[in-house]
Amino acid sequence: MTFDYAPAPESRAVVDIAPSYGLFVDGEFVPAHDGKVFKTVSPATEEVLSEVAQASAEDVDRAVKAARKAFEKWSALPGAERAKYLFRIARIIQERSRELAVLESLDNGKPIRESRDADLPLVAAHFFYYAGWADKLDHAGYGANPRPLGVAGQVIPWNFPLLMLAWKIAPALATGNTVVLKPAETTPLSALFFADICRQAGLPKGVVNILTGDGSTGAALVAHPDVDKVAFTGSTAVGKAIARTVAGSDKKVTLELGGKAANIVFDDAPLDQAVEGIVNGIFFNQGQVCCAGSRLLVQESVAEELLAALKRRMQTLRVGDPLDKNTDVGAINSAEQLARITALAEAGEAEGAERWSPSCELPTAGYWFAPTLFTGVTQAHRIAREEIFGPVLSVLTFRTPAEAVEKANNTPYGLSAGIWTEKGSRMLWMANKLRAGVIWSNTFNKFDPASPFGGYQESGFGREGGRHGLEAYLAPSSPEGAR
Ligand code: NAD
Repeated sequence: MTFDYAPAPESRAVVDIAPSYGLFVDGEFVPAHDGKVFKTVSPATEEVLSEVAQASAEDVDRAVKAARKAFEKWSALPGAERAKYLFRIARIIQERSRELAVLESLDNGKPIRESRDADLPLVAAHFFYYAGWADKLDHAGYGANPRPLGVAGQVIPWNFPLLMLAWKIAPALATGNTVVLKPAETTPLSALFFADICRQAGLPKGVVNILTGDGSTGAALVAHPDVDKVAFTGSTAVGKAIARTVAGSDKKVTLELGGKAANIVFDDAPLDQAVEGIVNGIFFNQGQVCCAGSRLLVQESVAEELLAALKRRMQTLRVGDPLDKNTDVGAINSAEQLARITALAEAGEAEGAERWSPSCELPTAGYWFAPTLFTGVTQAHRIAREEIFGPVLSVLTFRTPAEAVEKANNTPYGLSAGIWTEKGSRMLWMANKLRAGVIWSNTFNKFDPASPFGGYQESGFGREGGRHGLEAYLAPSSPEGAR
């Protein structure tokens, strides 16, 4: 069933979106070299939100030159001075968080409850955290004079636009690097608002440059010969292409790619709590999360009971207007993403898995997909192997911990996993056996700026967050360093 709705007007009014935006280069908003623009739409309504500049290779060159020029002074600043700017940015983000949360929900389609209570607090927390490191690097075992890498070319996806920006920009600036960042083409707006925050904070010109554009802009950025460090978050296919581009150069690289996490529930787990964790694991951000718990592995003896409780809980999920504070599941980010999810769900049915969704009405305009559960899934099914990046959960069962490990590890990815059990020894045994960069126990999707995040195998390499995130932006320490 479908229905029409008008987005909550009072929330919409807190953000003032200009009809058009330029690129942010050397502290100014400027049009693209060739004057090209593209539109960004609200995925919940298909309303055009704004028109933004499409950066070409010439614009990439202009931005990298600005970042290179700014690097000399920025990297020479005492850490305590850089920290002041980062603290200022963090505070402005807090002050403007309502506006930014609404903007993020409009451009991405995510529920305002999530952008307000998860994305924005984490964005500010990352800037506070790395601000705290900036004046302590000299004493942290990185050598007497830790050296930044230079100009960082950073490319981010659309699922957490501002948070992915924070993961990349905060550690880069804290360590004295300068930045050219390209947001995803479907969610450019919060990065442009961030550019405005940099100006508000008085950040020196050229330290942060924002280039809106598509994959061709990203490709030109990572290939630019004067970019010293490439930081990419996105799909495994593009990550592999970037690895090929930078192979043979002396660019440093970190890649944060896809995932197919197992959320593993044992028969002794607190099942009500597990149901909440499963729902959060796969329906948070409409499942468009690299570490989404998209495979539920449940011990056979409690499978029936758990699935009955899960279906009851899914029946209560409210799908709809991202700006409504009561919404649990918002819009899918784009028509292309919706088509990808739809195709994989159809493949699940065609391969013989049983599909179930709670009865829910979906809005007529925009891009929507009902929360979906597949049972009777085997490891050979595409929905058990491929990243769906949508609100679709594939359920498999197991009998023994060893079988759970075997099934959980049966994936080319290795980003995250969840373990639900009251037994500490089993949890530790499992955690040692699972090939995943992040493992949650009796919880899911918990993030903290002090914790490193990243994966193995086709989930990429390198870590963001924590001190590992700093090290990704520092040259190897000198021989006299204390490491
Ligand atoms: P994507 O790879 O299509 O795009 C990501 C970014 O790369 C966009 O900005 C895009 O314009 C740019 N891009 C596209 N082609 C490029 C090229 N050839 N060279 C350089 N840049 C290029 O991914 P997406 O669809 O935006 O995001 C979804 C994917 O991101 C999922 O696979 C998800 O798992 C992954 N992801 C991973 C993490 C993580 O931390 N591991 C976090 C979020 C998302």
